Amino acid sequence: MKCPHCLSNTKVLDKRESQDATRRRRECLKCKRRFTTYERVETKIAVIKKDGRREPYTREKVKNGILRACEKRPVSQDKIDNIVTEIEAELVSYSKSEVPSKVIGELIMKKLKRLDKIAYVRFASVYRDFKDVSEFGKTLKELKD
Ligand SMILES: [Zn+2]
Repeated sequence: MKCPHCLSNTKVLDKRESQDATRRRRECLKCKRRFTTYERVETKIAVIKKDGRREPYTREKVKNGILRACEKRPVSQDKIDNIVTEIEAELVSYSKSEVPSKVIGELIMKKLKRLDKIAYVRFASVYRDFKDVSEFGKTLKELKD
């Protein structure tokens, strides 16, 4: 888990299990700031990757993708956490034990689009792996419409 402030490595100070979540108190090894993470959906849902392999869903991975897209953008940590929680709620509502990574990617894009246009374009460009400038232009155009 990376520090949300400086993206350095962190250590777990304290771990507690509650009904539906694992709560971890963490401290950044570099800037020493402390924060708390809640992990919920993990282990219950498997993500089907593009090549067909499965991996356990992790909140961290979704969040890191969003954090990267929101780097230096005026988006608060709380808002990012909220998005991840909303995405997880949607995933749970599907009542499926396996979800294609594409579905998660699209959910993230949908949320980012409303939150921050630049973050959205950044995420989309990595996620959709734009092959040429015209595809990138198309996404930008979609935003303007
Ligand atoms: Zn830090």
